[in-house]
Amino acid sequence: MSNERTLVLVKPDGVQRGLTGEIISRLERRGLRVLAAKMLQPDEALTRLHYAAHVDKGFFPGLMAFFTSSPIMALVFEGQRAVEVARQVSGATDPVEAAPGTIRGDLALDKGQNLIHASDGVEAAVEEIALYFRADEVLSYERDVDRWITGS
Ligand code: UDP
Ligand code: MG
Repeated sequence: MSNERTLVLVKPDGVQRGLTGEIISRLERRGLRVLAAKMLQPDEALTRLHYAAHVDKGFFPGLMAFFTSSPIMALVFEGQRAVEVARQVSGATDPVEAAPGTIRGDLALDKGQNLIHASDGVEAAVEEIALYFRADEVLSYERDVDRWITGS
């Protein structure tokens, strides 16, 4: 099975609500490992790059205000099918439609303030990781427990 890396952000609402640990914990307990982590304050330039696909959407001004409103935590997670798994654990964009058991389905209410970002594909993940981390900030390592998670 493919070993993938994905970018996860604990968005401003997650940091402000004290849910950073809860969000990391859910992904770690699923079996993914953390390769990189940092706190940062998004500015407008970063927001435009990160949400380049959405700059022309009607909700973008609100998204800009929200995303630049507080520090966030950026993380790289790695593991078997990590991109798909992090999206699944996050739940649907609108928390009201997100399944119970997902981060958004359990902990959020609002389509804008939905706690977490997770890359939506392997290629997007490569680009997004490079937006937040230098190559030497992303560690490469294995854990003894990984053989009990993936069987290899
Ligand atoms: N968003 C919003 N209003 C919308 C759609 C999206 O405020 O109608 C925000 C929300 O924070 C979402 C982000 O823009 O997480 C990116 O939207 P996307 O559709 O890519 O959702 P995601 O990939 O985060 O599930
Ligand atoms: Mg998206």
